[in-house]
Amino acid sequence: MRNDDAPLIRLEDYRPSNWLIDTVDLDISLHPQKTRVRALLALRANPAGEPGSPLVLDGDELALKALSIDGRPLDASAYEATPQALTIPNPPPHDFTLTIETELDPSANTKLMGLYRSSRVYCTQCEADGFRRITYFLDRPDVMSVYTVRLEAEKAEAPVLLSNGNLVAAGEIPGSGRHFAVWHDPHPKPAYLFALVGGALDHVRQDYVTADGHKVELAVYVEPGKAGRAGWALDSLVRCMRWDEQVFGRNYDLDVFNVVAVSDFNMGAMENKGLNIFNDKYVLADPQTATDGDYASIEAIIAHEYFHNWTGNRITCRDWFQLCLKEGLTVFRDQEFSSDERSRPVKRIADVRTLRSTQFSEDAGPLAHPVRPRAYKEINNFYTPTVYEKGAEVIRMLKVLIGDDAFRQGMDLYFERCDGTAATIEAFLACFAEASGQDLSDFARWYEQAGTPTIVASGRYDAAAKRYTLDLAQSTPPTPGQPEKQPVVLPIRFGLVGAKGDLPLKTASNAYAGDGLIVLDGACLSLGFEDVPEAPIPSLLRGFSAPARLELDLGDADLLRLFSSDSDSFNRWQALQSVATRALVTAGKPGADQKPLAATATALGEALDAFLKADGLTDPAFAAQVLRLPAPADIAREIGKDVDPEAIFAAHRSLSSAIGKALLGNMPGLSAALATSGPYRPDAASAGRRALRNELLGLAALCAPAKGADLCEEQFGAADNLTDRLAALAAMTLIPSERREVLIARFAEAYANEPLVLDKWLMAQALIPEPATLDRVKKLMQHPVFSLGNPNRVRALIGGFAANLTQFNRPDGEGYGFVSDIVIALDRTNPQVASRLLGSFKSWRMLEPRRQRFAREALSTVARMPNLSRDVADIAERALA
Ligand SMILES: [Zn+2]
Repeated sequence: MRNDDAPLIRLEDYRPSNWLIDTVDLDISLHPQKTRVRALLALRANPAGEPGSPLVLDGDELALKALSIDGRPLDASAYEATPQALTIPNPPPHDFTLTIETELDPSANTKLMGLYRSSRVYCTQCEADGFRRITYFLDRPDVMSVYTVRLEAEKAEAPVLLSNGNLVAAGEIPGSGRHFAVWHDPHPKPAYLFALVGGALDHVRQDYVTADGHKVELAVYVEPGKAGRAGWALDSLVRCMRWDEQVFGRNYDLDVFNVVAVSDFNMGAMENKGLNIFNDKYVLADPQTATDGDYASIEAIIAHEYFHNWTGNRITCRDWFQLCLKEGLTVFRDQEFSSDERSRPVKRIADVRTLRSTQFSEDAGPLAHPVRPRAYKEINNFYTPTVYEKGAEVIRMLKVLIGDDAFRQGMDLYFERCDGTAATIEAFLACFAEASGQDLSDFARWYEQAGTPTIVASGRYDAAAKRYTLDLAQSTPPTPGQPEKQPVVLPIRFGLVGAKGDLPLKTASNAYAGDGLIVLDGACLSLGFEDVPEAPIPSLLRGFSAPARLELDLGDADLLRLFSSDSDSFNRWQALQSVATRALVTAGKPGADQKPLAATATALGEALDAFLKADGLTDPAFAAQVLRLPAPADIAREIGKDVDPEAIFAAHRSLSSAIGKALLGNMPGLSAALATSGPYRPDAASAGRRALRNELLGLAALCAPAKGADLCEEQFGAADNLTDRLAALAAMTLIPSERREVLIARFAEAYANEPLVLDKWLMAQALIPEPATLDRVKKLMQHPVFSLGNPNRVRALIGGFAANLTQFNRPDGEGYGFVSDIVIALDRTNPQVASRLLGSFKSWRMLEPRRQRFAREALSTVARMPNLSRDVADIAERALA
């Protein structure tokens, strides 16, 4: 379908379904090319719908084989079936059952939506609207049904048969070589949470007893031979289940909980009730094939999908506009879990880095949209950083505003009141308004208004009166479809920092300010503080208490003082980032004077050297974050217009090398002190030591290439884990030399049979900031491990290249042409992965005119292609609008 033909779906057009489906009995006979699906649906008219309505069920590329009502075949004149819909104009006036038979070819399903085969394993992905590719259905989240699923398959091909809920029967079919399993899920759910898995799989398992005494069998299923890599996922599952009982009072509610890893998967993972299906990248881990970062993300994503059992499954979304109701809330919950398991400030810094690089850039470009969009053509394009990450920030702000106790009471009320329903943001917020006694109607604007607010702050100190005045103002730039913006409610955690740390806060004018919280809910605010003994430095947005940009005119000396003495770890880190950002924004413009950058480099180098000497070993994970400068892409976004990626990159490199040089003398001692003894362990403390060591290695590679190459080779040879080996490879990619090519080849040889590790190898090469990278990437597409059919490979190599600031944005436009050609090729087989890739163009309007012209041409070429998917057409159209 052309996008021009695709209807625009609007939130205000929401109407309840005219029909409901109380129970679904599925009988699925699995076969690689000819899977037969028989669906028995118990239908009744929805009292909230239009009486006497026709019954219209959704389909997608379906072929109807048979249809009957109450067991009697339906005359062909009584219905109309197309691949996209099944319409019965005059359904019976009473409750009835509908039996639908369809036949599917899972092997030919390259879209990886609905039922497909991945490495000989049958599996499903139904969110957002994949279930309609299995059978005709009311495929909308507010139609919730109780499912019973009978699966049948060749026993040799699929000895394991899994679906949602509890196993109620299983057995052989004598003489046929086939067997069956029947699963029943007592909890009503929308179709997007349906799942099945069939195949030859190994597993690890463990019993678990919930806080309310319910015994649960936990299992993680993986490809045969990989059970040894499933232990960390299972361990993470046990820990997050306990955490959800303790922190949110949530117990699990079925007899089994299964996690399955598959190798071809469009997303990270999917929270199907009782049967979570994962991209194997987020399950498999051992020290040889997973990095510290992988261990951390497996822990986070296992938790995320498990937490959905309450925030998403027990309480689901009324419609897809409410996606953030489950996603923003569940991201918040998994962030809190990781913070409790690891270091809270380090986790916060990492999350804010991601937020700024993915969400702030989305807000600043043509694809900007509110946390709750009001209209869409293709919902698959709204699984965005705005819905997920900014959605989580909104929950975090809510907690800051109403306080921890009222937040927990509000959550309890939400679970109690909305359990078993398909809810809305309004229903969710009402629980917190009631629990806190606060009016949250202004706060709700966060869900409706797109764009990143800017807070402008300035302070004045009156030494004679011992009075400090802080002036704050906010504004949000226009975004597509929203030219005028209203003020939002901004909770600003803050402190006033004096020579010996935080000063007491005494104010007559603001109820919260004494506790270190300012609520800026209008366009501007002026606050007076009394009895301030010395001129303070304001420390604002502590813990990044609101997803906003802060403009605060502090000199480098004040920022460096905050870095050394702020009581808030996040703002210590932020202070150095601010110094570096300001210098890079100035030096990163074409033809800019580079002298001020050299001065900043000296100041930062001295501060970091002193910090590492005094503090580097106290919290190495934090020190590693401190050492890492804002990425060139962050500087590009700060500059905002007429961006020249080469100029930014050059400034960034010169600052990094200068800092590296300042630290060089200190490095060997530190690196030795940070070395871990004994076998690899993935815990946060060990990971932190490796992170700092590897950060230093990267700096050494930049500022002393020959010495850096020695260190990389040495580390690669000596390492007993992937984290250190990959860090050696990544550092080496910064050093153009024959030695680099040798190490690249050694890495490929060492991991020849490990596609997930080779993904990292592909990406490390795709990110090399040199003009030859485009040819290298083209050549790597011919490597045996690469396949356009596997989303992980595409994201690693092509997605990696599209994230390479200087090479994707090559001055000759060839980077754009290459990526857009792949989008076009990929769109024929997997539109979702193609449209995600096209999203790499989201920042094209901030570039200088020549690159803009090339980017526009590439986007227009995509947009002009005949028979584009709705996914890709929608992104191309919005990016060009
Ligand atoms: Zn989720």
